[in-house]
This record gives sequence, C-alpha cells and structure tokens, in this order.
Amino acid sequence: ILVPFAALVLAFCFYSRKEDFKPEMLKGKRVIVTGASTGIGEQMAYHLAHMGSHILVTARTEAKLQKVVARCLELGAASAKYMNGTMEDMVFAQLVVKKAEELWGSLDMLILNHVGSSYFGFFNGDVGHVQKLLDINFLSYVTMTVAALPMLKNSGGSIVVVSSMAGKVGFPLLVPYSATKFALDGFFSSLRQELVMQNTNVSITLCILGLIDTENAMKTVSGVFTSPAAPKEECALEIIKGGALRQREIYYEYKSTKFPLLIRDWAPDLLDYLIRKSYNTEKLK
Ligand code: NDP
Repeated sequence: ILVPFAALVLAFCFYSRKEDFKPEMLKGKRVIVTGASTGIGEQMAYHLAHMGSHILVTARTEAKLQKVVARCLELGAASAKYMNGTMEDMVFAQLVVKKAEELWGSLDMLILNHVGSSYFGFFNGDVGHVQKLLDINFLSYVTMTVAALPMLKNSGGSIVVVSSMAGKVGFPLLVPYSATKFALDGFFSSLRQELVMQNTNVSITLCILGLIDTENAMKTVSGVFTSPAAPKEECALEIIKGGALRQREIYYEYKSTKFPLLIRDWAPDLLDYLIRKSYNTEKLK
C-alpha cells in the first residue's frame, strides 16, 4: 500500500511544483510591509526596493521609518512611503490599508510581520499582557486582512504572514508570544481553505521561522536559547520568494524548522525534550 501512496504523493508534488522565483515578479508590485523599521521587516523593504516595488512600510517609530524609506528610494523602489502608529489600535491597522488604496488604488501583497514586545521568561500569569499581545500580533493581522481582501481579490494578490517555530510547537519562556503565533496558524490556514473553496485567487503564505539574528531577538534570547541564529537578510528574501511563488508555507531555515517538525506528530515528547535541551535557564535574568 505504501508504494502507490508514495507515487501519489510524488505525482502531487510534481503537479503542484511552482515556477522559479525571479526578482522581476515584484517589479511595480504594490506591497505593504508591517514592522519594517527594524529587523526582518526592514530587510524585506530593502529587497523589495531592489526589485522595484511600490512600498508602504509601518511601525511606531517615525524616525526609523523615515530612514528606511530614504534607503528604499536609493535602492530603486518605484515609490516608498511610511505610516507610523501602533498595531494595538485596530483603527490604525485599517488606516494603513486605506492609505495603500489612496496611494495606489490597489494592492498586490500584504506582508504582516510586526510583533509586539513580550518578556522572555516563565509565564507570569499576566492575562492583560496576553490580551494586549493578541491584539498586536493577531487581531491587527486579521483586521488588516479583512480591510485588504477586496483589493487583493481584484489584483489576485497575496497575504504573507510571518510566524515562528513557536507557532507550530510549544516553546518555553515564550508562552504569550507562542499563543499569538498559534492563533495566526489557525486563522490563516482555515481562511486559505475557504478562499480555495470560493475560487478566490488570493494566496496565503505562512512563514515558519527559526531563530533569526535580528538585534531584538539576539538581545532577548542571549545566553539562554543556545541554537544558532540564521541571517535576517536571507530570511527576508526567502519570505518574499514564498509570497511571490504563492507557497502555502515557507520554513526558514529547514534544519531548525522543517526537520524537527517531522517528528512532532510521531514523537511529540521527544521534540519537547530536544527543545528544552536547547535552553540554558541558569542564564535567565
Ligand atoms: P523586530 O523586533 O526586529 O521588529 C519588530 C517590528 O515591529 C519593528 O519594526 C517594530 O517597530 C514593530 N512593532 C513593535 N511593536 C509594535 C506595535 N505595537 N505596533 C506596530 N509595530 C510594532 O522583530 P524581528 O524582525 O525579529 O521579527 C519579525 C517577525 O519575525 C515577527 O513576526 C517575529 O515574530 C518573527 N520571528 C522572528 C524570529 C527571530 O528570531 N527574530 C524568530 C521567529 C519569528 P517599532 O518598535 O518602531 O514599532
């Protein structure tokens, strides 16, 4: 029974193989990148600028966004604008999409990447913090998606959702963060199913990232989480490629994401144990 099953899987993989990525795919495309003042979001903005996209970046810190926009224009962006504000506020989340509509009349790609700050430590029972983080990391993603869907349906566009290994499997010291990332998987994986059932030509790409060497992440996990970190520049490019190729999920890097997840459904206790082994809690402040 295994042979026909394997043949079926191979045939399906071959049939659903996507074309190769070309930077021209992003030329002239209208893209929102949230959380683009630093880290992976900033690097995504620079890649898109190189590729000649129209870019609208968001975050709270205006001075940083101004610098990102200036750099994007130097790198060759078709246009670059910013909007500063907090994603705790759903009105702001809606206004960002409205701004894209005013600027371009349409939208090709919505990259949801921002993340609110949380603590790195044992769960402290603060329910208010969980609620606030759900607003920033989850509800604002939903709000922007709802606001952007009419434009994305018209353009046959893409939604790219930046998640984490902590959104696929439990990671200690990250309880509120992990909860918000699991919520993204539930919402966007279900929505993807509905878009297919309704013959809607909008793709959803969920990005499962391992540890990435952004300044904030390195500061947060320093000495405690001992896995090696992958480069933010390459990570940013892989996210854009995944969105452009309309992949359902991307895993970056494979060795810290896809491979460990292979044992999740068969040996969950072993995976939990291996994750715990990569922590040095003696170094916890
Ligand atoms: P950074 O902390 O470097 O950047 C976060 C961005 O979000 C900044 O632009 C920040 O700007 C913005 N932001 C923070 N709070 C708010 C808020 N309340 N409202 C609006 N914007 C806000 O994050 P990374 O680049 O490290 O991470 C990017 C994405 O990748 C996140 O979704 C994260 O969960 C995911 N990821 C990262 C990993 C890593 O190891 N780095 C691992 C796995 C997933 P400002 O402060 O100016 O508002």
